[in-house]
Amino acid sequence: MTTELVLLGTAGAPLPVAGRGGISSALVVDGRVFVVDCGRGSPSAFVNAGLDFRRLSAVFISHLHADHIGDLPGLLLYPWGVRSGDHGPLAPVRVFGPSRPEALPAGDAAFHRETTIHPERPAPGTADLVESILAGYAYHLNVMPLDARMPDAGALVRGIDISVPAPAAGTAQVPVVVLEDGPVRVTAVAVTHGHAVPALAFRFDTADGSVVFSGDTTPNDDLIELAQGADILVHQVADLGYLERHGFTGAALERMAALHTDVSQVGGVAERARVGELILSHYLPAEPGAISDADWARRAGRGFSGITTAGRDGLRRALPG
Ligand SMILES: [Zn+2]
Repeated sequence: MTTELVLLGTAGAPLPVAGRGGISSALVVDGRVFVVDCGRGSPSAFVNAGLDFRRLSAVFISHLHADHIGDLPGLLLYPWGVRSGDHGPLAPVRVFGPSRPEALPAGDAAFHRETTIHPERPAPGTADLVESILAGYAYHLNVMPLDARMPDAGALVRGIDISVPAPAAGTAQVPVVVLEDGPVRVTAVAVTHGHAVPALAFRFDTADGSVVFSGDTTPNDDLIELAQGADILVHQVADLGYLERHGFTGAALERMAALHTDVSQVGGVAERARVGELILSHYLPAEPGAISDADWARRAGRGFSGITTAGRDGLRRALPG
C-alpha cells in the first residue's frame, strides 16, 4: 500500500492572502483521500493536486473557526455530480469534527461579543454545521436533479461529532479513536486554542507510517504524547515577534500567544515528540513574502534533531512504507 501527505493550503487565519491557500491537508491512503481542514481554496487545491473527488472518503475538522471550514460547502457540493458509481451513489463523505461545546464561551472586558448570532443554537457542532450546509443549499440540492442527472442528495454527506472529554489539569488525555477504516486508524486529542473549545489534533496511522496534524494550538503536552514517534508532524507556526512588530501589542498579543505555537517553540515540541520530520503549516503571518521558507525552517528547527521542512502549498511527502 501507499500513504502520501499533500499540503493543499498552508495559510493561517481567515483573511485571504495572495500566494497561499487556506489551511487544508490531504492524506492519500491507497488512493482514498482523507482531508484535514477545509480552508480557502481547498476544493481547487484538491483538483490541482491531481486528487480524485470520487475517492474522497472523509474530512476531519480540527476546530470550527472559519479558516478551517470556510470551503467545506464547496468541497462537498462542487463534486456532487461525480459522486456515483456503477451501483448508485458513492458512500457519503464523512465529516468528523468537534461536537457542540457544553456552553458558549464568555468573554471579558477586553474581548467580548456584542451581538450573539443565532442565539437558539449559538455554538453549533460539526453535525449541526453539515445539517446547516445542506439546509442552506437545499435549493441547489432539490432543484439541480430536475435538470441534470445527479446522485441522490441524501447520500452526499454525514456529519459526525467527535466527543472529547474535557481535559483535566495535570492529567494526560487518552486519545479518542475517531475512525478505524481498514488500514487507516485516526485518533484525536483536545489541544489548546484560546476560546475555541474543543479544538482537536489528529493522528493517522497506516501500515506505511504515521502523520500527526497539530491543528491550531499552543505547545501542548497531550499533542506531544499523541505524536510520539510519528514519521511526520504537520504543525502550525506563528512568529509572535513579527506580529508584535506589525501592530499586535498588549492584550491582543497575549491573546495570540494563547492561540498559537511560536516559531521559537515548535522545534522543542517536535523534539519531545521524537518525530522524524517536522513540516510547518498554517503560517502566521500567512503572506509568503513576509518570512522566507529558509528563515521559517531555520528558526523552527532549533532544538529539533530531525528534519524541519517549511511546508508550502502542493508539497507532497510519501511515507516510507
Ligand atoms: Zn486557524
